[in-house]
Amino acid sequence: METPCSDSTELVEVKLRGMRSLCSSTPGDTDFSIRGPVGNGVMITEKYRIKKDDKVRIIAGKDKGKIGKVLKINRKNNRIVVENINIIKRHVRPGGQHRQGGIIESEGPIQRSNVMLMCNKCVTPIRIKMKRLEDGKKIRVCRKCSEIIDS
Ligand SMILES: [Zn+2]
Repeated sequence: METPCSDSTELVEVKLRGMRSLCSSTPGDTDFSIRGPVGNGVMITEKYRIKKDDKVRIIAGKDKGKIGKVLKINRKNNRIVVENINIIKRHVRPGGQHRQGGIIESEGPIQRSNVMLMCNKCVTPIRIKMKRLEDGKKIRVCRKCSEIIDS
């Protein structure tokens, strides 16, 4: 029998993340596997540990190269909403909730793997590492300049 967690790399990954097991991800999330990056994956992206209010750079899609603040994170389907990124225009007809109708603009969710965390000091997309403080608290620091990401 094949169990999703028997793979050793996954086990390591779970330890690194220190978060919920990968087993909890729903196999039915086909949208992600189709539109996510091929090959250099989902696993690496997870290490960035993007949080709300982080500054991120978009590395893929129509807003590639832009920088924005993370507004919302949906861990369940690996999507995030970034300020002023992936603006969707929705045409609404008058009636129902929208009395006036017209066009509504709002940020649409994007794949978490399409963004990279930014370092304020390097002003470049970075990889982070986890650092344990004396009081046992773990913080995220820039792998390049050791600038603390968490404040
Ligand atoms: Zn840095």
